[in-house]
Amino acid sequence: MVGGLDVPESKVRPRVDLFEYQAKELFAKHGVPVTPGAVALTAGEARSAAEEYGGMVVVKAQVKTGGRGKAGGVKLADSADDAEAKAADILGLDIKGHVVRRLLITPAADIETEYYVSFLLDRANRTYLAMASVEGGIDIEEVARTKPEALAKVPIDALAGVDEAKARAIVAEAKFPADVADQVADVLQHLWRVLVDEDATLVEVNPLVKTPDGQILALDGKVTLDENAEFRHSDHAEYAVQDEADPLEAAAKAKDLNYVKLDGSVGIIGNGAGLVMSTLDVVAYAGEEFGGVKPANFLDIGGGASAEVMANGLEIILSDPQVKAVFVNVFGGITSCDAVANGIVQAFTMLAERGDVVDLPIVCRLDGNNAAEGRRILDEAEHDVVELVDTMDAAARRVAELAAAK
Ligand code: GDP
Ligand code: MN
Repeated sequence: MVGGLDVPESKVRPRVDLFEYQAKELFAKHGVPVTPGAVALTAGEARSAAEEYGGMVVVKAQVKTGGRGKAGGVKLADSADDAEAKAADILGLDIKGHVVRRLLITPAADIETEYYVSFLLDRANRTYLAMASVEGGIDIEEVARTKPEALAKVPIDALAGVDEAKARAIVAEAKFPADVADQVADVLQHLWRVLVDEDATLVEVNPLVKTPDGQILALDGKVTLDENAEFRHSDHAEYAVQDEADPLEAAAKAKDLNYVKLDGSVGIIGNGAGLVMSTLDVVAYAGEEFGGVKPANFLDIGGGASAEVMANGLEIILSDPQVKAVFVNVFGGITSCDAVANGIVQAFTMLAERGDVVDLPIVCRLDGNNAAEGRRILDEAEHDVVELVDTMDAAARRVAELAAAK
C-alpha cells in the first residue's frame, strides 16, 4: 500500500518475475545444478524436444504463478507421442488467470526426496532471509502454516552473505540428512550468487530433489529480479520484454516512460516521482466527494519534460479507455513551466499529426519556476479541452468533478 491508495507493492518496487526456464538458465550460469531443458511453443516442438532427449520427459507449463503441478500444468510423458499429447493438453490451459503459451520440456529426473530452499529480501526485518525445509515439493506456505518448525528461517547479513559456514548453518537448522549436507551447502552458496550477481530479490527452489543415486538437483526455479538494477544487466532486457505486463505499461516502457496502470478514471501526468505520488493521493481524496473517483495511472515524465515526452505521455494516458479526464501537474524547477507549457502545446500538435484528437478534459496546474509565463502560453494556445487551475487541491477537485461527469 502506498499513500493510502490501493497500489500493490509490486507496482512501487518494480520487479520482473522470471519463467521457470529463465530462472534455471540463471541457476545453470551460477553453478546451481539443473536438468537440461528446451522451450516449446507448440505440441510439435514438444515432440521434437522429447525425441531428442529420449526416455521420460516432463512437460511443464511456463506461467508466472506457482501450483502448476496441482493445476495440471506439469505432466510426465513416457514417449515423444505422449509428450506431444500432454503438450496439447497443457497449451492454452488457464492456470490462475495465466494462459499457457509456452512449455518447458525436460528429461524427467527420478525423485527420492523433495526439499525446499530459498533466499529473499526480508523487507520487514531489513535483511535477507534464507528459508529451507526437508519437506519440499508441496506448497511451502502450507508447511509454514501447519508445521512451522519444519521450515528453517535464517537471517543473512547483506555484507557477509552466504559463505560455507553460513550455508552449513542453514543446512543444520533445516536438518538436512548427513548424506546430502555437503551438496546442499554447496548449492546454497551458488544460489546466493544468483541473488547477488543477478540483483534478484527472490531465488527459490521447490523442489530441490535428491535422486536415487544421491544427486541434488533443482527441478523448479523461481527468480524475481529487482528492476531498479536493470541498468546493470543488459542481458536481462529479454526478461522484461517477455514479461506479461499490462499492454499500456509495455507501450510506456517501450517509450522509456515511468508509467504504472491503476484502476481509476483520472489520468495523471507529473514531473518527479514524489509529486506524482502526492498527486495520486490528492486526486483520490478529492474523488471521494464525487462517488469515489480515482487515479487511472502513475506517470512521471521526469525533470526534462520535452514536448515529445509530454506527447508520448498523453498518448499513453489517452489510449486507456478507463480515462475520463487528465490532470497535468507540473512544478517548474530546472525545467521551467514555460518550457513544459510549450511542451504541452506542441504535444497537442504532435498528437493531431499522429491522428489522435484530444477530446477529454485536461486540467493543468503549473507552479514554480516561470509559472506565470507557462500559464500565459497555455491560455494563449486556446485549447478548449485545457483548463488551468492554480492550486493542486483545487485542480484535483476539478479533475475529479470532470471525470465523474463523463
Ligand atoms: P509447481 O507445481 O508449479 O511448483 O511445479 P514444479 O516444477 O515444482 O513441479 C510440480 C511437481 O512435479 C514437483 O513437485 C514434482 O513432484 C513433479 N516433478 C517435476 N519435475 C519432475 C521430474 O523431473 N521428475 C518427476 N518424477 N517429477 C517431477
Ligand atoms: Mn515447484
